[in-house]
Amino acid sequence: MDIIKQREYPLALDVLQAMSLRLLASDRRQTAFAEEKGIVQAGFTGEQAIDYYLNFISNKSYRIFHGLRIPWKNDLYFQMDTLIITPYFIPILEVKNLSGKLYFNQLAQQLIRTKNDVEEGFPYPMTQVNRQAQQLEMYLKQSGFPPHTNHPPLVIISRPSTIISTDQPNAAFHDKVMHAENFPERLHRLEKQYPRACLTQKHLDTLSSLLLQAHEPLIPNYRKKLMVEEHELLPGVLCQQCKQLSMVRDFGWWKCIKCQQKKQRCTYPGIDGLLLINQTYYQQSAVSQFHKTAICHCSFPAVNKA
Ligand SMILES: [Zn+2]
Repeated sequence: MDIIKQREYPLALDVLQAMSLRLLASDRRQTAFAEEKGIVQAGFTGEQAIDYYLNFISNKSYRIFHGLRIPWKNDLYFQMDTLIITPYFIPILEVKNLSGKLYFNQLAQQLIRTKNDVEEGFPYPMTQVNRQAQQLEMYLKQSGFPPHTNHPPLVIISRPSTIISTDQPNAAFHDKVMHAENFPERLHRLEKQYPRACLTQKHLDTLSSLLLQAHEPLIPNYRKKLMVEEHELLPGVLCQQCKQLSMVRDFGWWKCIKCQQKKQRCTYPGIDGLLLINQTYYQQSAVSQFHKTAICHCSFPAVNKA
């Protein structure tokens, strides 16, 4: 197998970090930021947990894509945690990193998690991954690939200690929902189920390039979600050492007026954090205005991504 697209560190964590640093420590929304960070981090950790088991794939023609987000139609996208392209079938993996006891209510199409005697409802993962399979099917059809390729939807529970239960336990359910450690065996059975190749090597090459080109990472708009107005974001350039917005230009260097740290360049969360927060690239003048405390006798290009 070949990993064509590696999993990216979630931009959402960068955005949340950048916003959290630009709000007062006493701001009431800091708790919401911390909670969001925990959710995104758990999702990322869960997705990484599948990597070990992917090493058991011996077929060299299999191609793995992590975290694809593909434009679909009318400004809509579909996102897949892990996609495996093979000549025989194209499984989509939806990875869930939930601890506690999971109850898959197939009748109501709802997932209920019980943890520390607290019940919590979640979107039904099978609905999510079935929808992704439909979207992928339409995407392949629109892109001229042979119809009727198989997209077995798989829900992978990343924590071995998570208890899986359901209202209608049967083999068909456990063919779709499984712990990560059971995935290699499930893949082996899929290979027996779909022995006939429906895609050629040329198809695989074309599809790989198409997906890589189409992928558009999401920069989430947490400013809108957590209701932070632009004027509430604290201005200034971030010091990497003391995490204060206290860097100023000082004879060609950047100097922190709090901890005296000196640098030739200001690094990532200073400028890029702002760009991430607003999901767009500011005009130079807007950046200068925002950094009014820092920009005195220098121009914007002096601030670079390290
Ligand atoms: Zn400092």
